Amino acid sequence: MTSLMVKVSVDDNECTGCGLCYNDECPEIFMEGDEGTSNLKPEFRKGGPLEGDVPDAKKGCADKAADACPVSAIKVG
Ligand code: SF4
Repeated sequence: MTSLMVKVSVDDNECTGCGLCYNDECPEIFMEGDEGTSNLKPEFRKGGPLEGDVPDAKKGCADKAADACPVSAIKVG
């Protein structure tokens, strides 16, 4: 069975650390990083805390966070 993955990234130059993504919309994928800005949770990271791949089944969660982000810092796909 092929498990499709979707790319997710956070632009920490834009992220204000408001917490909407990691506290409210999608704590399954996002967490608060050391600087208070958003990071991907370790299990989804690829190369660093700001980007990675999530299973297709979690795309809706990532999309909700991206839609809610007031500064459009989250990219999905
Ligand atoms: S919702 Fe956007 S600005 Fe707020 S913590 Fe998440 S990525 Fe940063």
